[in-house]
Amino acid sequence: ATILAIESSCDETAVAILRGDLNQVDILSSEISSQIDIHRQYGGVVPELASRNHSLALRPLIDSALKNAGLQFNQIDAFAATAGPGLASSLLVGHTAAKAMAVASKKPFLSINHMEGHLLSPFIAGKTGIQPNISLVVSGGHTMILHTKQFGEYILLGKSMDDAAGEAYDKVAKMLGLPYPGGPEIEKTARGGNPEAYAFPRSMLKRGNLDFSFSGLKTAVLYTISELNPETGQAKAEQLPDICASFQAAVIEVLVKKTIRSAQSVSADRITMSGGVSCNGALRDAMADACNRHSMQLEICSKHLSTDNAAMIAYVGLHKFLRNQYSDLSCDIDPNLPLNTLILRK
Ligand code: ATP
Ligand code: FE
Ligand code: MG
Repeated sequence: ATILAIESSCDETAVAILRGDLNQVDILSSEISSQIDIHRQYGGVVPELASRNHSLALRPLIDSALKNAGLQFNQIDAFAATAGPGLASSLLVGHTAAKAMAVASKKPFLSINHMEGHLLSPFIAGKTGIQPNISLVVSGGHTMILHTKQFGEYILLGKSMDDAAGEAYDKVAKMLGLPYPGGPEIEKTARGGNPEAYAFPRSMLKRGNLDFSFSGLKTAVLYTISELNPETGQAKAEQLPDICASFQAAVIEVLVKKTIRSAQSVSADRITMSGGVSCNGALRDAMADACNRHSMQLEICSKHLSTDNAAMIAYVGLHKFLRNQYSDLSCDIDPNLPLNTLILRK
């Protein structure tokens, strides 16, 4: 089947066309128009600017997605779009456009959860379909560990009690005067620093606990900045590498330890990692190393599929389409759409 998907939950407009079956897919095209440069001057995403720019970007992106895939509109079997979680006014643009295309072509519409997209993205490139695994999802708005049993069957094992990992990166970057988005900036700056320069807290590492908390770490970084610079309260350029490296070491240690612990708790030997923070090279290396030591297989998607994209939405769409799980045209977006997990521990 051939699926066209739109992703417009936040500040990237994306359109992808994917073709395949339950075991193997080809990304025929995957277009992204990033608004990062527009929002950077405000230090974060401005919702009204985002929705306006989604509207402007979408039509040309759909045209180029079809052109680059070498397909006509009538060769698409179903239209998918992100329904949430995300910004309401941004979600509406993509969700409504995909519905309109479905109506116009009398093809099914597929309403997709953005987090299910991230969660399953490590399987897009594989040849075996979706395999049972322990999934660490680390993005701008979420940090969770799930036991993925099969498509649509996800058991939540742990999540952040406060900030998401990506959010912590972005907030700490802001404190340090680094530009938005902070994740890639902190990673770059950390390369020249000593990860042991500051002993930042590793929260909730007590045995058996699979939840996360990053707000204490954020506060510890803030205190360190003001202790080092009592006059200005601002970090100096030469202090940044050690602070970034030490912050990053603290984040990575808890992410890796809890993921391995989760896998051990259900005797899983396969781990996946997804979401924007999984672009981080130091995290990738640390997770690969830990998986090696514990004889677990690790699947991470390529970096361009880790951050927001439409191929991951098309991938979930394809799996729904092949199971005849079509969405009703009356279905709506939901800015707080929860992932359909089977057991919410809390
Ligand atoms: P969600 O998917 O939870 O709704 P989102 O869509 O905003 O949130 P993503 O696009 O998956 O999140 O990821 C963006 C986040 O990833 C940002 O917080 C960004 O700072 C972080 N990030 C991106 N690259 C890196 C990196 N190299 N190191 C650390 N963090 C990174
Ligand atoms: Fe995302
Ligand atoms: Mg984003």
